[in-house]
Amino acid sequence: MSPAVPDPSQDTIFGRILRGEIPCDQVHADEHCLAFRDVAPQAPVHILVIPRRPIPSLAEAQPEDAALLGHLLLVAASVARQQGLEAFRTVINSGAAAGQTVFHLHVHVIGGRPLTWPPG
Ligand code: AMP
Repeated sequence: MSPAVPDPSQDTIFGRILRGEIPCDQVHADEHCLAFRDVAPQAPVHILVIPRRPIPSLAEAQPEDAALLGHLLLVAASVARQQGLEAFRTVINSGAAAGQTVFHLHVHVIGGRPLTWPPG
């Protein structure tokens, strides 16, 4: 699992956050990922966990990304615990038709209110 520096040639707003060019409300950072509060929260707790390596979407993840993807999920659970959530939802939108708007892979961690299923 190599902690690559974000590549400006594949830039998104999350690349700019990773490079410190725009601020975020950070709740976790380590060698491989960053977690921060979503700017348009859909629940009392809404956090995004993003890899430092800019994989555009889950659909484009490769076998060599397996450890990194596992790490993102473990951080998502850790952040949920840190926020005092007993129940929470993790979401990875992959592709515009599935609601993805930022093409830098991210895990949504959502909680703090009852969540219905199925989502829209
Ligand atoms: P998605 O629609 O799954 O691609 O999710 C992208 C998320 O990024 C949305 O929930 C946005 O509200 C969030 N977002 C966009 N810009 C920022 C930002 N500068 N800081 C925090 N969250 C952001």
